[in-house]
Amino acid sequence: MGMRGRETTRYDYWGIFVTWIDSFEPYAPYRDKLLSYFGNDTRTDFKNRQLCLYNALSDRKRFNCGYRLGINVFQNCDHGCRYCYVNGYCGGIGRGKTRPSYLKTLSRDLADFESLGMPPADVHISNSTDPLQSRLETASRHTFHTLRLLAAKQHLFNSVILLTKNPSLLLSEYNCNTDGFESKGQGYLESLLAMKEKVRIEISIAFYNDDKYKEIEPGAPSPKDRIAALRRLIDEYGFKVRLRLDPIFPHASGIQTRDEICRILDESVKTEFIISKPLRLPKKVNQEFLNRLMPFYSGGKNEGVEWHSTRWVYSHERKIKEMAFLRDECQKRGMLLVDCKSTVLVDKRGEPILKRILERGISDFEA
Ligand code: SF4
Repeated sequence: MGMRGRETTRYDYWGIFVTWIDSFEPYAPYRDKLLSYFGNDTRTDFKNRQLCLYNALSDRKRFNCGYRLGINVFQNCDHGCRYCYVNGYCGGIGRGKTRPSYLKTLSRDLADFESLGMPPADVHISNSTDPLQSRLETASRHTFHTLRLLAAKQHLFNSVILLTKNPSLLLSEYNCNTDGFESKGQGYLESLLAMKEKVRIEISIAFYNDDKYKEIEPGAPSPKDRIAALRRLIDEYGFKVRLRLDPIFPHASGIQTRDEICRILDESVKTEFIISKPLRLPKKVNQEFLNRLMPFYSGGKNEGVEWHSTRWVYSHERKIKEMAFLRDECQKRGMLLVDCKSTVLVDKRGEPILKRILERGISDFEA
């Protein structure tokens, strides 16, 4: 894996990447190894690797998610959530795609990465698409094989974090031996159990009622199906499962009721903790959805609304207000509420912020 000179692209992604590696001291001993891992292709800007850095192009000075890895099994997403920037770009249900030569490239990347001798890292599957989209996964089994490959190389990882709206697929019967012979058997669970101490399953459930969720997450499995799988993964298999009650919609929009938020919490009490944040409203989403939400994202700074390059986001003060109800309901139930970004950020020494939150047991949304 030698490094060659980079062409300057319109956004000079490589330049941005090198700048943040250089500015983050904990990376210093690994700088050249990381550059060589990602620097073997001058044309594709990180798309040459399936085992990539999490948020490779984020500015670590503003959003320091440190040294963590990511695998996006598919491209785009079939679930078609109205509030999702991915859905805004790919155009809705049925637009998910498999990646060409995905498993071959991932196997190569794992071997290359192992040869670097880097310290173990958290790996996220998948932070910008659902890895268990039924249509794509049952046809390709790319996530099934990804889990097998990760289980075999688990010494490379501190934890394996799987985020999905379709957890029941993990409990389904499917197996495939090394000769490619398919049979019935709980193959997903086999891989997950083989690295059980490292696995964290994050399940997104933002609605409880079927009519409501169908309107906002039209391609995703029903919340009741997700809750049933969440409970089985905890009760029958003892996995650490986190509930993503995310996003929280402005209460006055009527899109998500307080009653359904409470019902989701009541049915998920054994989760490790709750992850959430107020809706960040992307500009590029379905027009009808945008029109419906825009009244709650107007008024600029006076109303605690900030524009962050592609979407409207609440200021810290407004966020605390919007999250007060969920925070109080979590407290009543003895559940810990964590801001979505705190699950990935690190401090200046590279220590995960989440570690401190879990030790202290104090919600991120205290006023
Ligand atoms: S499941 Fe996730 S990636 Fe897929 S459309 Fe919904 S929010 Fe976006």
